[in-house]
Amino acid sequence: MYEIMLNAATNFYKYDYTCITKLISQRLYDQFHRIYQPLLAAQPTLATEHAKAQESVILEKTSNQAGYKQMATNILMNLKKRPVAQNEQDIGIDGEWVDPATKAQQIVITLEKANKLVLTEEQLKTMGYPSAAELEQQGGDGQTVGSQKACDRCKKTYVVKDVLQESDLNVCQYHHGRMRMVMNRGEKLRLYTCCNESHGSMGCVKGPHVYKDENTQDLHAKIPFISTPEAGAAKESRTVVALDCEMAYTTAGMELVRVTAVDENCQILLDELVFPSHMVIDLNTRYSGIKTLAGAKHNLDSVRKELFKYVDANTILLGHGLENDMNALRLLHPKIIDTVTLYPHPKGLPFRYGLRVLSTKILQKFIQDSTEGHDSFEDAKTCVDLLEKYMKSPQGQKL
Ligand SMILES: [Zn+2]
Ligand SMILES: [Zn+2]
Repeated sequence: MYEIMLNAATNFYKYDYTCITKLISQRLYDQFHRIYQPLLAAQPTLATEHAKAQESVILEKTSNQAGYKQMATNILMNLKKRPVAQNEQDIGIDGEWVDPATKAQQIVITLEKANKLVLTEEQLKTMGYPSAAELEQQGGDGQTVGSQKACDRCKKTYVVKDVLQESDLNVCQYHHGRMRMVMNRGEKLRLYTCCNESHGSMGCVKGPHVYKDENTQDLHAKIPFISTPEAGAAKESRTVVALDCEMAYTTAGMELVRVTAVDENCQILLDELVFPSHMVIDLNTRYSGIKTLAGAKHNLDSVRKELFKYVDANTILLGHGLENDMNALRLLHPKIIDTVTLYPHPKGLPFRYGLRVLSTKILQKFIQDSTEGHDSFEDAKTCVDLLEKYMKSPQGQKL
C-alpha cells in the first residue's frame, strides 16, 4: 500500500488532484489483489506492481482530471468483471489481458465477409473519394507560392509565401474549436468549443495563414494521384488494412506527414513520419499530435512503396472518413470500407458520427481526446474493432 501512495504522490507534479489518484490507486490495488489472489503466494508484489502500471497508463493517456476519472472508471469496471486468475496466462493489466472465452469466439475478418461491405462507386462519390474519372478532367490549380488563397482558418485572402517572416507567424487570428449550440435563459447561443466565445468574436489563438485544396483536380495538379498496384503485387498482402493519416499545412495546401497502418488482426504494419514535398507552414500539432518531423525516413513516394508491401488492388482499405487519408496519400483505390457508412448518422450525410462517439457507443471503449493530438494506432485499431463488431451483428447496431 505504501508504494501505491508513493505512486500517487510522485504524480503530483502533473495534476493537482492527489485525493482522487489516491482513491483510484487504492481501488486498482483492491481489484488486482482480488484477481491475482491465487498467484500472490508465489509473486507477492504482483498486485502492487500492476496497480502502479495501470495507473501510469491512465496518467499517460489523459491530460486532465475529467479524462483521468473517466478512464479510471472504465478500467475499474473492466477489472471488476474479470474472474480470479487461474494461471500465469491470466496475468496482465487491462488492455493486455484477453478473456480466453472471447478469444475463442472472436470473429475472423475474412475477405468474403469484408467484400460485402465495400463501398459502391456511387457511395465513394457521395463521400467525396477521389476517382480516376475526376483526374481525366482538365484543369486544376497547381499554383502554390505567390498565388492568392483563402485561409482555411480565418477565411481571409492572403498570398502564399515559401519563407515566412516573423510577422507572418501571427497574422492569422482564429478559433481552433468547433461551434456548438447552447441554451442560455431560453436563448440559443452559438459558442466556440475552444474558448466559449460567441460566433463572430475575435479568434483566441494566432498563427500563420494556411490553406487546403478541396477538389481532386487541384490536389492532382500539385502532387499527382497514383493507383494501388494490381492484385497480387503485394508480397505480404493483407485482407484488410486500416489506415490513419496525419496532415500538416505546407505551401502546397495540406500534405501527409504521418501514416499508421494496421492489419485485420491489429498487427501494426507501419507507423512512419513523412516529409512533405513542399515547405511546412504549420504542423497542425493540435490535431496531428506531431511536434517535429526530425527522424522521418520517408517521403510520400517511399512511404507508399512501404504500404504497397501489404496493399494491392485486392486489399480492402479501412478507415473513418478515409477520403481525407486517400487524398493525403494521393491514392486511388477500388475497395474501401468506411466506418462512417457502417454506422451512419440518423440524419444522413453530411452528418457523421466522430470516431470517438462510435467507440464509446458501439465498443463501450473510451478513446481519450487528449490535447497532445490523437493516437493514430488507437484510431486505426478502433476501426478494425468497429468492423469486427459490425460483422458480428450488423442489425444489432442501434446507436
Ligand atoms: Zn476560440
Ligand atoms: Zn488565416
